[in-house]
Amino acid sequence: MPRALDPETREALAERMRFYRELGLTEFYRRPVDAASATTASDFDSEPGEGESTAPPVQQETASSAAQPNFFGEETAIKTRKAFAAPPQIAAAVPAEERATALQAIREDIGDCKRCALHKARNTIVFADGSPAARLMFVGEGPGADEDAQGVPFVGRAGQLLNNMIAAMGLKREEVYIANVVKCRPPGNRTPEPDEASTCSPFLFRQIDVVRPQVLVALGATAATYLLGARQPLAGLRGRVHAFRGMSLIVTYHPAYLLRDPRQKKEAWADLQIAMKELGLKATRSRE
Ligand code: URA
Repeated sequence: MPRALDPETREALAERMRFYRELGLTEFYRRPVDAASATTASDFDSEPGEGESTAPPVQQETASSAAQPNFFGEETAIKTRKAFAAPPQIAAAVPAEERATALQAIREDIGDCKRCALHKARNTIVFADGSPAARLMFVGEGPGADEDAQGVPFVGRAGQLLNNMIAAMGLKREEVYIANVVKCRPPGNRTPEPDEASTCSPFLFRQIDVVRPQVLVALGATAATYLLGARQPLAGLRGRVHAFRGMSLIVTYHPAYLLRDPRQKKEAWADLQIAMKELGLKATRSRE
């Protein structure tokens, strides 16, 4: 058994994994651990030494992988990568004046949801925010602590930055529609598990079909993965328009990632300008 990591190292590793995740790097392989070669936090940050390989470590995910410790020393079953479920068929268009009621019906179908394990630690189901008749919709990953407390998506620090991004596009937050791949906060803000995302995403697809925005912006790798039904590095998805359910989908960085690496705001702004072009908008304020 590898030794347990101290809380500071665990948090540093978790932060690093979130950083990779937001870059769209979500598939990791694990070296077999033996006591003599157990990885330390400083190894994790350092360049490989002489003679050390930079090739991906050896152990592949297999269907028969038994429960084994993850980076954080917790037991976890390494799951076989499954195909993504086919997205639901595109629903019939809902007239603008009926959209609020149609969205309310989706919320009622969700109910006091216990369909996946995320319900156990959540405080509130975070359904969505904004206009049912929005021309622009943003999709994030899942609620964080602030959203879980308030029941509204993107109200924490990442939400403040998203508000600035929306304002820079010349829009008000109330004019757009905002939702997430999962509607309950994953404990510790971890990435939603595939079964959690796949259980919740049909509700997101229904919301998208009702609002039927002209442009959808996927914020980060998790949103892009579950909307497009394929796991790909963000770099290959950004900077262009994807055809999606009769609308234009644009992929950009998650605001939480931009808070950690503000140098990428320029790239995100370039993505938002593609969205603006699709919407026929001109920037009226400088971006922040
Ligand atoms: N991050 C998300 O992906 N969604 C939220 O609602 C808040 C933070």
